[in-house]
Amino acid sequence: MKQLNFTELSLSSETQKAVSDMGFVEATPIQSEAIPVLLEGHDVIGQAQTGTGKTAAFGIPILELIDVRDKVTSALIMCPTRELAVQVSQEIKKLAKYKKGIAVLAVYGGEQIQKQINALKRPVHVVVGTPGRIMDHLDRRTLDLSHLKMVVLDEADEMLNMGFREDMESILKHAPKERQTVLFSATMPKPILELTKKFQNHPKHIKVTKSELTVAAIEQGYYDVKVSQKAEVVSQLIEQYALKLMLVFCNTKRKTDEITEIFQQMGYKAEAIHGDLRQNQRNNVLSRFKRGDVNILVATDVAARGIDVENVEAVFNFDLPLDAENYVHRIGRTGRAGKSGKAFSFVTGRNDMAKLRDIEDYTKVKIERQHLPSGKDRVALAKTKLAERLKVLIEEGDIDQYEAMIADFKQEGINLHQLTAALLKLQFAPLMTSVKETREYPTERESNNDRGKGKKQGRGKHSGEANMVRLFLSIGKKDKISKGDIVGGISGLAGIDSSNIGLIDIYDKFSFVEVDTHFLNKVLSKVNGNKIKSRKVSIEIAR
Ligand code: ADP
Ligand code: MG
Repeated sequence: MKQLNFTELSLSSETQKAVSDMGFVEATPIQSEAIPVLLEGHDVIGQAQTGTGKTAAFGIPILELIDVRDKVTSALIMCPTRELAVQVSQEIKKLAKYKKGIAVLAVYGGEQIQKQINALKRPVHVVVGTPGRIMDHLDRRTLDLSHLKMVVLDEADEMLNMGFREDMESILKHAPKERQTVLFSATMPKPILELTKKFQNHPKHIKVTKSELTVAAIEQGYYDVKVSQKAEVVSQLIEQYALKLMLVFCNTKRKTDEITEIFQQMGYKAEAIHGDLRQNQRNNVLSRFKRGDVNILVATDVAARGIDVENVEAVFNFDLPLDAENYVHRIGRTGRAGKSGKAFSFVTGRNDMAKLRDIEDYTKVKIERQHLPSGKDRVALAKTKLAERLKVLIEEGDIDQYEAMIADFKQEGINLHQLTAALLKLQFAPLMTSVKETREYPTERESNNDRGKGKKQGRGKHSGEANMVRLFLSIGKKDKISKGDIVGGISGLAGIDSSNIGLIDIYDKFSFVEVDTHFLNKVLSKVNGNKIKSRKVSIEIAR
């Protein structure tokens, strides 16, 4: 497929300038093919996957076609989701940067319709919207499509999947006959072909071939893991690659909530995004993710459609996608616009392995098995990192008051060497145990049960209080222990008042308990290896 520089396409100087401001030099294959054909006035069927630059492929011709002096809606773009509508409108606004007076508006459900009605009272040249909301405006006669020059169906297959067929057809019937109709779709099932037959006029078919699908810049691999290890493996990979922004995919809404909670318990800033969130909640989560205030976004396929966040460093297929095409959609969320990215898939058992082979067949890319770094490597890495942090702290100074404490410890009979070693133990103990075994985090069912209970008792969440430290305790529901048993056991063994024990979360095989940092050493030394409710327990700082 040919690929041109934008300067080789005959575009207005305004568009050239905007495109170069956006950092585009080379047009993508779909842009190189579609832009000239659309500028000539043909209808187009574009078949290309996510991340191939389709928005500019139709956005640029739309802007070249519009005359600002026409105070009418000249172009309509239909998108399957609110996020996509917003993103497409933003991208078109950027492309229109130097075209003075061009108005672009996104209309979608979930936003107050009155706000959109007011905006539509002035001329809006380009309307981007979800079919349901566009219909709503047509019914209210607040949107006039009788002057349309171009209609775009973006991600048409997805709109059909979402049941928008009737709306799409009635909208198309509102548009004048001598318009241009553009349809983009990742797949070309029969209903799509019917739609193009019915509503397009000798369309040119432009297809980006599969070999161009998976962006070469994305490093792909899989890990053979138990279900209960997945969260822990994510955590290790975050550490190994110093990841800051990542997407984790699950197959159900419920799972996204459960997995999010596990990540939060592990201390990560994680949020779920799925169809049950209200529009402002979704926007809120997305913008916090874009800012990096949320590091892990846990999503379903539908919710992640079209999410275009730059700098997503990695995509995790916590659950393998149900089909190979979704795999391409998912991993296309990283490695955006020429950046590199990583895609990690988790494979559990033979079914998953078969799915992975299907994905390889479809994408024509071999996905290699990966192995986690050994415990030794991880300890070495943590040591290097600690050394760096210590150097910074020492450099910054302001540690006199801590230096003064050394004398206090000496008086307690602890020498400098012991003090340092014991502090290192505090720091590294969790890592040392996970060198021996990969700790099992709760499976979906376990965490779900517990969450229900926790809510009732108002004890579900980590209090996060600064003076409390969260500990991992090796007994859980299967040992038939209650929160009272844990409080009683710890306070008894350590000889501390129960008021120094905070929130407790009991899972099937283990529990988390918060303890006042003041008594941390006491609790660790007195409880570890001793018995609670006649069970020998181990206790350590939770990671
Ligand atoms: P699609 O609709 O095919 O999923 P988008 O239009 O959302 O893809 O584009 C994906 C990303 O690539 C966006 O961030 C967009 O700004 C960027 N992009 C588009 N075209 C180019 C180009 N020619 N060069 C560099 N980046 C581009
Ligand atoms: Mg798109």
